[in-house]
Amino acid sequence: MRMMSAGTKGSGAERFDVERIRAQFPVLSVQVNGKPLVYLDNAASAQMPQRVIDRIVRYQSREHSNIHRAVHYLSELATAEYEAARRKVQSFINAPSDKECIFTSGTTDAINLVMHGYGRRFVQAGDEIIVSAIEHHANIVPWQMLCEERGAKLRVIPVSDAGELSFEAFQALLGPRVRLVALTHVSNALGTVVPIRDYIDAAHAHGIPVLIDGAQAAPHIPVDVQALGCDFYAFSGHKMCGPTGIGVLYGRAEWLEKMQPFKGGGDMILSVSFEKTTYNTIPFKFEAGTPPIMAAIALGEALDYLREIGLDTIARREHDLLAYATEGVSAIRGIRIIGTAERKAAVLSMVMEGIHPHDLGTLLNEDGVAVRTGHHCAQPVMTRFRVPATARASFAFYNTFEEVDALVASLERAKTVFGVA
Ligand code: PLP
Repeated sequence: MRMMSAGTKGSGAERFDVERIRAQFPVLSVQVNGKPLVYLDNAASAQMPQRVIDRIVRYQSREHSNIHRAVHYLSELATAEYEAARRKVQSFINAPSDKECIFTSGTTDAINLVMHGYGRRFVQAGDEIIVSAIEHHANIVPWQMLCEERGAKLRVIPVSDAGELSFEAFQALLGPRVRLVALTHVSNALGTVVPIRDYIDAAHAHGIPVLIDGAQAAPHIPVDVQALGCDFYAFSGHKMCGPTGIGVLYGRAEWLEKMQPFKGGGDMILSVSFEKTTYNTIPFKFEAGTPPIMAAIALGEALDYLREIGLDTIARREHDLLAYATEGVSAIRGIRIIGTAERKAAVLSMVMEGIHPHDLGTLLNEDGVAVRTGHHCAQPVMTRFRVPATARASFAFYNTFEEVDALVASLERAKTVFGVA
């Protein structure tokens, strides 16, 4: 392993038994092109430990039935497990009530739910919605659609060259026409951790509700929605060791009660006649049709798993990996790191002079190193930083310092192969 400057590995690294953790993830023993997989695409989707896979198998083989609708054994069991998963979500984010935790298909679905339920009810012509310059498309496009439909305006908080939002500019945008602030907690393209508590407090001082896109935060740092005081918080299961097809929208009951349901159908009703439908109570009002029962239960298991390791431990471990990787990558001439905010989550976006990120990603793949290349569903960020795309390495607690070395070695090899000085 490389020699590191004092403190790079951090104090928590030695105590963290990464080999024991890695043994719990079957996919981490896969070989790619005859080399051990080095999985550094965790911001796109994290991997699943055996116990979550086992939970899926147990549900599918012994517990599966539709929920909320029958009195037979399996239906009651599946209902109890599904609702237990909801309580695990509640506890994971410290929501005041499980009624405020809605299962969605992911962050995108959760934000669209708020766009329809809150936006269509409360946003009128001439109103404004504030987003930031570092949002994922999932937290831009729904608001753009709403603005187009309603004749409202989208306002954008600018970002510095380091990738930090301007709080002063944000404060200047707040005013009587603003109906919502929709802000990311952690940028998927830059890694910036936004001090959202300050933004939430400032918006609330003007009576403006705040939605937080927590897709990149919930898997990596402790989230307490009561301490944050946000009105909505959205995240995805597949980025936190759970399956795809499941996500969560936390919403304050006072808003959820006022919001229109996003989708109509079964389970979200109390009674239906051709004259009138009465909607179910929250959270069921927002969960039309058969939900992803297995995925919700598996997410509950994944949250148990992450809590047992500890979100503080995870955050420390990933911070150490990021510091080590930043040091290694910075030492390679011709590489520019995009996103150098003071507070970052474990995302390292980079461009290499003379090599297109896609070519770089392809070459890294030859060495078994999986990074994401492209615009990361954040095209405005690429435009702001004047790059067509980046190569992004994103770390999880199960990554190792040796894997960071493999990334650095592969980047060095790319320079030789492409003849870049
Ligand atoms: N928001 C952020 C910051 C993300 O990183 C992502 C996914 O990469 C999303 C939203 C969308 O998540 P999903 O595709 O799970 O809905």
